[in-house]
Formats: sequence, structure tokens, C-alpha cells
Amino acid sequence: MDLYREGDPVADTKAPDGPIETRWERRRFEAKLVNPANRRKMTVIVVGTGLAGGSAAATLAEQGYQVKSYCYQDSPRRAHSIAAQGGINAAKNYRNDGDSVHRLFYDTVKGGDFRSRESNVHRLAEVSVNIIDQCVAQGVPFAREYGGLLDTRSFGGAQVQRTFYARGQTGQQLLLGAYQALERQIGLGNVEMNSRHEMLELIVVDGRARGIVVRDLVTGEIASEFADAVVLASGGYGNVFYLSTNAKGCNVTATWRAHRKGAYFANPCYTQIHPTCIPVSGDHQSKLTLMSESLRNDGRVWVPKAKGDDRRPKDIPEDERDYYLERIYPSFGNLVPRDIASRAAKNVCDEGRGVGPGGLGVYLDFADAIQRLGRKAIEAKYGNLFEMYERITGEDPYEVPMRIYPAVHYTMGGLWVDYDLQSTIPGLFVIGEANFSDHGANRLGASALMQGLADGYFVLPNTIANYLAAGPFDTVEASHPAAVEARRAVEDRIQRLLAVNGDRTVDSFHRELGQIMWEHCGMERSEAGLRKAIDEIRALREEFWQRVRIIGDADGLNQSLEKAGRVADFFELAELMCIDALHREESCGGHFRAEHQTPDGEAQRDDERFAYVAAWEYGAEQPVLHKEDLLFEYVHPTQRSYK
Ligand SMILES: Cc1cc2nc3c(=O)[nH]c(=O)nc-3n(C[C@H](O)[C@H](O)[C@H](O)COP(=O)(O)OP(=O)(O)OC[C@H]3O[C@@H](n4cnc5c(N)ncnc54)[C@H](O)[C@@H]3O)c2cc1C
Repeated sequence: MDLYREGDPVADTKAPDGPIETRWERRRFEAKLVNPANRRKMTVIVVGTGLAGGSAAATLAEQGYQVKSYCYQDSPRRAHSIAAQGGINAAKNYRNDGDSVHRLFYDTVKGGDFRSRESNVHRLAEVSVNIIDQCVAQGVPFAREYGGLLDTRSFGGAQVQRTFYARGQTGQQLLLGAYQALERQIGLGNVEMNSRHEMLELIVVDGRARGIVVRDLVTGEIASEFADAVVLASGGYGNVFYLSTNAKGCNVTATWRAHRKGAYFANPCYTQIHPTCIPVSGDHQSKLTLMSESLRNDGRVWVPKAKGDDRRPKDIPEDERDYYLERIYPSFGNLVPRDIASRAAKNVCDEGRGVGPGGLGVYLDFADAIQRLGRKAIEAKYGNLFEMYERITGEDPYEVPMRIYPAVHYTMGGLWVDYDLQSTIPGLFVIGEANFSDHGANRLGASALMQGLADGYFVLPNTIANYLAAGPFDTVEASHPAAVEARRAVEDRIQRLLAVNGDRTVDSFHRELGQIMWEHCGMERSEAGLRKAIDEIRALREEFWQRVRIIGDADGLNQSLEKAGRVADFFELAELMCIDALHREESCGGHFRAEHQTPDGEAQRDDERFAYVAAWEYGAEQPVLHKEDLLFEYVHPTQRSYK
């Protein structure tokens, strides 16, 4: 049987046309509104309390809707967004260095290797300026210059300085802002907060998303929750690779369960591999650590010119070093986008010029910057990152260059949504990293926080009204057949997992799955490798359902049960990722097919055949591919060059 079949194209029916600068304004004007008295009668479920979900829940409650919010952490402010380090982009042009909404739009479409929607990206660039104002008003302590103005720095893929930051803890400070807004609404009784609850199923009634089934992770109790609309803000799925920079809890279950209920999954193979992470140090590891891209503002990336040169870095003279990013990409130098920097690091390591154990590392050297600016200035900008690096590696980056290597970091794929951020299931909206919307085949640094907050504070609160204007919808009782079926599916699955009673830990399966994915669906993919991966994933999944061992029962806190459910979903997702990567016979952004490269080793797109979003419909036997064609009226697709 074929791996997939092709269905009808999918269209974004909400996307406005006309001049791009007016599209968002027009959509907002044309969309229906809900009057304040009616808002009070409606409930919205928001799954996730990261930057996307936290900002959305707070804003919807502020507007007057009743909100039920869920996260699996013990506090909403522990969502993975708290880990974000480097910064958030906005087209404020405070530096007067040539930035504009149009330039941010242009850089983002180009950075995504012409695989994103122009309308969405333009809206993102427009809204970016409001985000900074909103966060400053909340008291987010962005870094400031001596004169008191907000400071900015550079990130990859841009020649202007548009990244706002709060030392190396931007995500934390932004999340505290959103969390305060959320807590205020919790205090006012407009948000019902349910932490330590995991969504395990979506309830679809008469074709509309009307609720979720959750498990209380402390008591094990299963409950069905209902609402007029459901918003998923459940983050990305990079942990399908086991080793990634994501928090250990990040998983795909919320979106995968929705996918199985009819929501299309778009571009699942688009994975971002971040070039500056601390290299893997052994088999014992369960997590990788990011060294923020902001470090490439001042750090210089190099390897020895000679293969196998294992002298200490300080013993290698300048003329025997290869600052390869500066050499190959003189215009952007160390600030090329992540996909380009990651592949370049892989190439020099494949040539045998990598440094550190196993030769899987390159240097990120601050000696020049320290000499130019002084240690104090570097400490002020990156102090916490340097400290983190030293704690993990035992090496002092003020004295010896950091060693870095690419690692899985972000997933551009996610549930397909239209311009209103609504999935293919009416009433199911998807925001933040959980959707596929704005980054194409490669996300530029500092654009995830921008997108999450754009979605949560500004886009969704406007677009969801167009759907809710037809509400409130009929009450759904827990006895409704669709609700009973969803709840039973959760209970059966838990019992099925516990009943295996095998002899292998969940982690051992997850690690092996991650190795398959990294080997064949990681930085470089090939037809043969992907076919092999699909066979291996299927065999391992079968073994999982025969041999997995879960200790304890379902009646209380049971982390091995939680993990098993998530890994079971990762198996299904992994197969779809490989099928998606196999069918896309081109290279673009984070998806590099060995068979499709330019003579100098860059990604070779095939716009004739693949300028579309691949939106996959779930099929028990075979997934179904629906294509959404991408049109470029403002940024003409060209071979991306950062040279
Ligand atoms: C180390 C690191 C550094 C980064 N630095 C930057 C940066 O400097 N700039 C930038 O722009 N981006 C950065 N990123 C990316 C960015 O942090 C994320 O893309 C973004 O924070 C995702 O936000 P989110 O709200 O979509 O999801 P998350 O913050 O991941 O939140 C997901 C939420 O969903 C909940 N959830 C998930 N599944 C379920 C379920 N089944 N049931 C109940 N609740 C569920 C979780 O509890 C959580 O509350 C970084 C990423 C990493 C890993």
C-alpha cells in the first residue's frame, strides 16, 4: 500500500485579499462581533498557559468571556515559554537603522524559505509593534540603553537590530507579564485555572469542537469539560527527537488527539535545528541546553583549518583558524539564519574539523568581543548564559571558547489553521507553536515569542469573535454520545497501556525513537533514510505496545503513565513526519534533502512542484495529503542568499 494518498486541495477561506497593508484591518472590520452581554454567556477552553495560551486566556477573560484554562505544570508560569532566552522581534525601528513593518515581513518570508503565507506574516509584522507597548505597559523589564530607551540587538537573518530582550531571560519576563494578567483574571473569577491537568481527548459534537477530556495528574480523575470553543496553545513537538532544547514535558498529545479527530496537521517535517547548543556529552543525557542565538552578536564561530587538529584553542594561531560563517557568508557572517548555520556546522564536522569529544562541536569565541568591549560589557549582556554554560561544562567561556553543536529546538509544523487561526474543525482554534502558521520552513530567531504573543494578545481575541457570534451554542451534557465516546477512549487507552505490563521502560523506547528521527529525519534527510526510518518506527511502535512497562496505577500521580501516553502519540507523529519529509522532494529551510542541493551545498527548492503547505488529514490506514497553494505577490521567491 502507498504511504499516503492525495485528497482535495485545502483553501484558507478567511484570508482577505487586496493591498497587503490593509488586509488585517479589513478582516477585523468584516468579522462579526459579540456584544459584551453575550460574551458573559460564553465559555472558552484554553489549553496551555505559555506565552500564547496565557496571553489569550487573560485577554479573552478581559473581554468578558468565561475562560477555563489548563496546563500540566504545577503553575501556569512554568510553561516552557519561560525558557526562552534571547529576545523578541518587533519592527519599532528605534535604532533608525532602516527597519520597518515591510522589512520584518520581507525578512520573515525570505527566512522561512518562501514556504509561509504572505498575509499571515504581514499581520505578524504589523502586530509586533503593539506587543512591545503591551509588555512595557505590563512592566516587563526589557533591557534599556544608558539614556533610558529600550535596547535592541541583532538576531539571525536580519541586518537590522530589532530584537528586544531582557538579558538572557526574555521568555521568563514576558511570561511573568502574561501570568500577572492571567492571575488578575483568575482573581476576578473570570478564569478557572486548572493546573496539573492534561488534555487527553477532544470532544467534537455535530462537527464542532465543544470540549476536552482531561486527567487530573494528581488524583488520576478523568473529567469531561465543555465550552463554546476550544483553543489549543499546547506548544511544539520537538521532543519527538527525545534530545532537544525543549522542556522535558513538551509533547504532541493535545494537537495529535485533535488531529485524530479531524484537524489537519501541516508541514510536520519542518523542524528547526538550532546551531548554538551545548554538544551532547554521552548516552546518559535526557535534555540538551540552548546557548541563545544572541551570543552570535558578539561570539565568532570557528574551527581549525586542519582536520584532526586537537590543540587547545588558544594554541591555534589566527591564520590556522577557519571563521567559516564569515568566510562563506560575508554579508551576514555569524548572523546567518539557523538552518544555514546548523548545516554549515555539520559540514565542517563531517569534514573532520569538528572540536571536542567525538569531533561534534565548533567554537563560539568571545575573545575579540571581550578585548573590544571589556569583560563587564559582555557580562552585562550575557552573564546568565555564560554562568549556565560553565555550570554544565565546567569550562569558563570568558577564558576558553564555548563549544557548540546544532540540536532540535523548534517545530514550524503544527495544526493547520486559516487566517482566523481556526483549524479544520469548526470551533477549534490553535495558537503559538502548536499551529503551523507563520514561519514557513524555517523560523527566524526571536520570532516565536512574537508569534505567540501576537496570536494570544491581538489576533485570536479578534478572530474568535467571528465564530462565537453564532453562539452561545446548545449545552452539551456529559451523557452526549460524543462526550461518552471521547471519555471512554481515554479510559480504554490508559487501561491498554497499563495492561501491557512488559519489561522495557518508556524512556528506553523514547530514546530509541529519538535516535531514529535524528539519524534519518534530522539535519539531513534522504529517500533511503526516510524509508528505513518509517520501517523502524513501525517495528518499534509494535514492540512498544507489547513490551512497555508502566509502574503503578492510574489512580494517582504516575509519571510513567503520563510519559507512556505521550510517547505513544510521538510514535504516530514520527511516522507522519517521515512521510511528509519523504513526499517533499525538495530542500527548503529546516528540511534539507540530500538529493536536492545547489552545487555549493545550499538548499535547493522546487517552487514549481512544492510551493504549497502540506496539510495532512488523519487516516487509520494512510494519511491524506491536502495541498494549500502559496502565492507570492510581494516577496518574489528567489534562491535564498546570505552571502
Ligand atoms: C531553550 C529555548 C529558548 C528559546 N528562546 C527563544 C527566544 O529567545 N525567542 C523566541 O522568539 N523564541 C524562543 N524559543 C521558542 C519559544 O520559547 C517557544 O516557541 C514558545 O515559548 C512557545 O510558546 P507556546 O505558548 O506556544 O507554548 P509553551 O510555552 O510550550 O506552552 C505550552 C503550554 O501547553 C500546556 N500543555 C501542553 N500539552 C497539554 C495538554 N495535553 N494538556 C494540558 N496542557 C498542555 C503546557 O502545560 C504549557 O502550559 C526558545 C525555545 C527554547 C526551547
